Parts: sequence; C-alpha cells; structure tokens
Amino acid sequence: MQTESTEQLIKRAEIMCQRRGVRLTPTRREVFAILTKQDGAVGAYDLLEMLKAEVPNAKPPTIYRALEFLQAQGFVHKVSSSNSYVLCSHFEKQHPVQMLICSLCGNVQEIHSSGIHQEFINQAEQKGFQVQHQTVEALGVCKQCQHA
Ligand SMILES: [Zn+2]
Ligand SMILES: [Zn+2]
Repeated sequence: MQTESTEQLIKRAEIMCQRRGVRLTPTRREVFAILTKQDGAVGAYDLLEMLKAEVPNAKPPTIYRALEFLQAQGFVHKVSSSNSYVLCSHFEKQHPVQMLICSLCGNVQEIHSSGIHQEFINQAEQKGFQVQHQTVEALGVCKQCQHA
C-alpha cells in the first residue's frame, strides 16, 4: 500500500530517470503506474493483462523488458519466492531489502535492516563467497490478516 499518490511517485521516478539520463518510456511509465496501485506483489502475466488496457498490443517481452528496466532503476523489487514484482517507494537510495510477505493476502512490506545485510556478507566472507545479490524473504501473516 502506498501513502503517496501515483502522480507523486511517477514524478519522483521521472526526476530520477532524468538525473541518470535514462528514459521512462510510456510503457515503462504505465507498468510503474500499475504497480503503484497494487497492494501486494504481482506476477508478470497479471501485469501484462493490466497493461493491455493501455497498450493493447503488449506482449510478454514488452512486460519483461519494462520490468527489467524498472528493476535496474530500483523502482521495483522482485519477490523471488512468488516470482512477482512489487513497487519500491524508496528508490532514491540504494538500500538493503528484506521482504515480509503475507501468505494470506499477498501484501508485501519492505524492511531495511543493514544489520541483517552485513551479517550475511560477514558469514559469506568467512566461506570465501562473494555476494552479488541478496534476497531475504519471510512468509507469514500480516497484521491486518491476523485481526481479520
Ligand atoms: Zn526498496
Ligand atoms: Zn495479509
């Protein structure tokens, strides 16, 4: 759930793209806009169906290319355990990310623990392992669902 409006988030994303000299094309912008309206993570094919409302000739590569771009810019995170995508609203800064995924409603919340991140790297280093990408995902039941 986003506290900012879609327009505000798009504006922030546009500023970031301008600064980085990359283009938020109409398709990329539309995928971004769709993601701002979701409560939880969404799979690529569901996103494609929603995108077709605006871009009727959209094909699977259309959505994968857009997602690749949005991920590279840090605008979305991939939820590996469910192979889906979720908007990140703190994309101005590089941040460690751990995800709390509700197995009942699908809601995804981000937490940013640099402690967990650092500990991962420490333990990996002891094994002579170089971490390139780290994903920490916890499945459980969110606050709303516990009280439902
Ligand atoms: Zn994030
Ligand atoms: Zn829930």
